[in-house]
Amino acid sequence: MSESTIAAISTAIGEGGLSVIRISGENAIAVADRVFRAASEKPLSALAGYRAAYGTVQDGETVLDDAVALVFRAPKSYTGEDVVEISLHGGRLIARKVLRLILQNGARSASGGEFTKRAFLNGKIDLAEAESVMGLISAQSEAALRISRAAHDGKLSRAIRSITDKLLETGASFAAYADYPDEDIPDLSPERFGALLNETQQKITQLLSTYDAGRILREGVSCAIVGKPNVGKSTLMNLLSGNERSIVTEIAGTTRDVIEDTVMVGDVVLRLSDTAGIHDTADPVEKVGVDRAKKAMENADLILAVFDSSVEADDDDRSLIAALDPKHTLVLLNKTDLPNRTDPAIFEEFTCISLSAKEGNGVDKLTEEIGKITRTASLSPDDAVLLNERQRACVARADDAVREAADAFFGGATLDAVGVCIDDALSALLELTGERVTDAVTDEVFRRFCVGK
Ligand code: GDP
Repeated sequence: MSESTIAAISTAIGEGGLSVIRISGENAIAVADRVFRAASEKPLSALAGYRAAYGTVQDGETVLDDAVALVFRAPKSYTGEDVVEISLHGGRLIARKVLRLILQNGARSASGGEFTKRAFLNGKIDLAEAESVMGLISAQSEAALRISRAAHDGKLSRAIRSITDKLLETGASFAAYADYPDEDIPDLSPERFGALLNETQQKITQLLSTYDAGRILREGVSCAIVGKPNVGKSTLMNLLSGNERSIVTEIAGTTRDVIEDTVMVGDVVLRLSDTAGIHDTADPVEKVGVDRAKKAMENADLILAVFDSSVEADDDDRSLIAALDPKHTLVLLNKTDLPNRTDPAIFEEFTCISLSAKEGNGVDKLTEEIGKITRTASLSPDDAVLLNERQRACVARADDAVREAADAFFGGATLDAVGVCIDDALSALLELTGERVTDAVTDEVFRRFCVGK
């Protein structure tokens, strides 16, 4: 357990109902007793864990604020150490003055994420669970919150454990096979070994596949709305965002710039850019817009390509469709409130959605298809999902190492080489949960936390 006692303001700095200062460490209760005087006159050191006392925070005889002090006794606290949380009136100045007083009385200022780091170092949570705390704090959508909640409840850690258990079993039967290759024990046969590796590989690959959909649920997708002038891009954007940000006119080419907006469609946040109509133009002002539109198309995760279904497709439509990738594009056949004149054959390779942006029809189908194309719809709310690039990189390393183990084994490499590959896979996964991790990696994880957490 760490020697020093740390303190920080744990609530957001500013005016609010309450400010909470957290003190953690061996001397947390003694430090709090130096600044807090209970109305009952009983010191906090006389309280059992999970008990609260009402009183005042005092600098000598000067009262700084009324306060409630909540005592947690090790190991039953967030950090696993003795903790006191002092709730004050919310306000920049009060919280700062009380913190300064606490720092003058034996605590040192906590660095970013230090409370959670101590929880990790004291075995209260593993590294994946610690990272989920960041996700809980920063979640911008219901779905992002659900993913972090599941990780915080240990879903991801359990999924990793089931893979590491398999790897240990594989490693053990491999070691036995290496030691007694001539014994005819079914459990140690090359077939059994190959099957174990295969099973492990499938689990790892499945877990790896959750990363992209999870990232989309957390961060949203960049989405470009493209199409010729006048097909209804701005109307669609306004329909999705529920306001009148884009300029809607009947004169072709009025959306001259890329307009950014963020909308929630089902579980997915779309960072929308409504682009100038994509077509060849000689107008220099409009040309800038067209160039930016092409750029937006290159950079977007998802493209909504809008076509006017009430007119026949022309060469511009055909060249636009030729430039699009069906894997990242949804074709929106707009203006279905008017008679249809578009031949659907040119959109054959694409997922098409018929809608009327003007009348607001077809949004449900669009929502459903966005869920499918981003693969977020197939992610169950409490699945184990990889939360960040560090975790993805660990699982990718394990994936490579298991593949190498299989190649080495069936390719006739030395038995030692196979064992090394299995151990590499294990190390990568144990780095994810923090069971085999360097201080540098741990520091990097907690460096991204805010002070007070
Ligand atoms: P943009 O140039 O692609 O952004 O197109 P706009 O959104 O500015 O729309 C061009 C014209 O088409 C406007 O007069 C809109 O009212 C009209 N419009 C857009 N969507 C629809 C639709 O679903 N049905 C009909 N009938 N008209 C539409």
